[in-house]
This record gives sequence, C-alpha cells and structure tokens, in this order.
Amino acid sequence: MIETAMESDLARILVNADAIDKRLDELGETITNHYQSNGVEELTLICITNGSIIFAADLLRRINMYARVDCVRVSSYQNEDSPITEPEIIDQIRLDLTGRHVLLVDDILDTGKTLEKLVMILQTFEPQTLETCVLLEKQGRRQCRYEATYVGFKIPNEFVVGYGLDFAERYRNLPHIGVLRPELQNPPEW
Ligand code: 5GP
Repeated sequence: MIETAMESDLARILVNADAIDKRLDELGETITNHYQSNGVEELTLICITNGSIIFAADLLRRINMYARVDCVRVSSYQNEDSPITEPEIIDQIRLDLTGRHVLLVDDILDTGKTLEKLVMILQTFEPQTLETCVLLEKQGRRQCRYEATYVGFKIPNEFVVGYGLDFAERYRNLPHIGVLRPELQNPPEW
C-alpha cells in the first residue's frame, strides 16, 4: 500500500482491517444468536454519531434479523488532555423505543460517561431491553461503573483514530485503528 500523508500520521497500527472484519463477524453472530434465542424478532440499533458510523454500518449488515436504526449525536472531545466532563446530546432520537429491544452502539468506551448518560436517557423511554456494544474499550480509564454488554477490542490507554474515530474530524476514513503520533495530538492548525 502507498504510504499517504494520512497514514504517516500514525505512530503504529493497533488493530488492522482484517482483525476488525473478523471480530465484526463474531460480534454480529453473537448478537443475532442472543436476540433470536430469546425470541426477539426485531432490534432497534441506536448509533452514537459521528464516531460509531462506520462500525455501526458494518455491524448492522452482520445482524441477521429485522433491525431499525436511528442515531443520536453527542459531543465528544478533541484529545485526552481536554475532556468535556459532561457529554452533551445535540440531537434527539426519533424512533419510538418504548417496549423495544434497543442496542446502543458507540465507537469507544473511555471514561464511560457517554454510555452511562445515554443509557440513563434511553431508560426513560422504557425499552423492553437495553444493551450496549462498543468497538473499543480503553483500559484503566473508567470513571463510572458502566460496562458495555459487547466489546470488540480492549486497547491500552492511548489516543486512537481510524475506522470512524477522528482527531479534529480527520482520520475517520482510515480502514484500521491506529495510534496518532504524539506530536500531532495538540490542537490542530488545519
Ligand atoms: P467517554 O465518555 O467514555 O469518556 O468517551 C467516549 C467518547 O470519547 C467516544 O465516543 C469518543 O468520541 C471519544 N474518545 C475517547 N477516547 C478516544 C480516542 O482514543 N480517540 C478518539 N478519536 N476519540 C476518543
């Protein structure tokens, strides 16, 4: 592969595209089997945008049952040195969730505050079941008790980009997940 400027911004690749593909096959099968074995006919997937768009789109196509999809937009932070402590919901969910089987999908579980807050909000709609699925779980960063139901990969405490995850809106289109070179993790000039 030709090394592009975007690729050379990575210190290293943490999870390559083949590994993502294989893990998503497993997750899709596990999730489908779980709901089908519990007699569930239809699932409602709620994706936290923008970070989970690529993961959610790929996972959705591996879930082999009726599925409705909606998105919820939550503000996230630029890098690990400037966290917004309270995640902010910018957009509302339009699908009816009452009595439904809801699967909340996010890109990464870091402090856990985003997922914890979203779960609290979604519970107010009284879904029949509410589970969560994250592509990545960062080790040693949790600031709340929240654990995801399904986790793609456990990763070390490093700032990662790619496969939907951004830094200043760049790198979402990388097919793999990589660690951004430390000198690039400052407020961007572009
Ligand atoms: P939490 O609320 O769990 O601390 O953070 C969740 C959100 O922070 C994620 O949905 C993601 O948008 C952002 N985030 C946390 N760690 C990283 C990271 O290493 N890289 C990127 N690009 N975003 C991250």
